[in-house]
Amino acid sequence: MDFDNFYRQGIMENRDFDVVIIGGSYAGLSAAMALGRAIRKVLIIDAGKPCNRQTPHSHNFITHDGAKPAEISALAKAQVLAYPTVRFENDTVVDVTGANNDFTIVTEQKGAFTAKKIIFATGVSDIMPAIPGFSESWGISVIHCPYCHGYEYSGQNTGIFMNGEGALEFVKLIDNWTQKLTLFTNGKAAFNKEMFSKISNPDFRIVEKEIKELLHDRGHLSEVVFKDGSREELDAMYAKLPFQQHTDIPARIGCEINDAGYIKVDEFGKTSVAGIFAAGDNTLRLRSVSSAVATGTVAGAFLNHEMISDRYV
Ligand SMILES: Cc1cc2nc3c(=O)[nH]c(=O)nc-3n(C[C@H](O)[C@H](O)[C@H](O)COP(=O)(O)OP(=O)(O)OC[C@H]3O[C@@H](n4cnc5c(N)ncnc54)[C@H](O)[C@@H]3O)c2cc1C
Repeated sequence: MDFDNFYRQGIMENRDFDVVIIGGSYAGLSAAMALGRAIRKVLIIDAGKPCNRQTPHSHNFITHDGAKPAEISALAKAQVLAYPTVRFENDTVVDVTGANNDFTIVTEQKGAFTAKKIIFATGVSDIMPAIPGFSESWGISVIHCPYCHGYEYSGQNTGIFMNGEGALEFVKLIDNWTQKLTLFTNGKAAFNKEMFSKISNPDFRIVEKEIKELLHDRGHLSEVVFKDGSREELDAMYAKLPFQQHTDIPARIGCEINDAGYIKVDEFGKTSVAGIFAAGDNTLRLRSVSSAVATGTVAGAFLNHEMISDRYV
């Protein structure tokens, strides 16, 4: 039997892996690429809900600029699964128990698997405000990041949905993409408005009215409707939303979560629990496909180093 068939057959029958990667989007697939090429037996378990799934085009990741998010992950998945050392299951992990070199991973549909090591590449989920039209436009014309989508809306009539002290810095950032800029605080401003005198753009305004609804056509904004009945035309709106970890399993098994809500990792992706690594959005503020790919690759490589160290203690 040749090398490929030997591994492929074993990996499909096995329930016991070197590494189980929970989350099979950009971070998880990148970690799997490093580990699969390092001849580790890898299982990726993915629930199929990446955070950018509603975005029509992904930007700012070289070689894939403007591609559909699902196209990038489909190509990545095909390249990773070309390695017979890697298996992919569409499923949701509901529990992880055990300790370093002896973890049990329980899934919703396919039962339990065991692994020496775990990588959480589970991402985060954004918490939408209860404003009709907001979640429908998320990732289309209601956007989180100027580097990802700002160029496409440059020079257009743009809002920022934000309140609190961070608003000034965000206004300064977006002001470089468009001068037609309004800060919507959705209620009384929770900051010192005088600080905004630094903004030299004469068209900049702060609107404190509460928002009732966003009018849109399949996610493309046209107007903001306020609770007092007034309206404003708008092409795009930036929003800094609160988020939560996609799953509380890392916290349940003891991974430390930092004050900002991210899984605490060192520069190699190691969490506070022995044998568990994490990568991608669940660990970092700089939210982008390229960062997810970079941290996934690092976690995969250093987890492999850890397995070598375990063997030669
Ligand atoms: C609306 C929007 C638009 C964006 N646009 C861009 C862009 O244009 N360019 C760019 O570079 N970045 C963009 N980003 C950021 C980018 O999408 C993220 O940084 C990237 O998706 C993070 O990858 P990840 O693998 O860490 O997490 P995700 O891509 O979110 O994937 C996490 C995966 O883990 C799975 N998962 C979670 N819990 C479990 C579990 N218990 N069991 C099994 N699977 C589980 C999820 O189902 C999901 O498939 C955008 C983000 C958003 C929200």
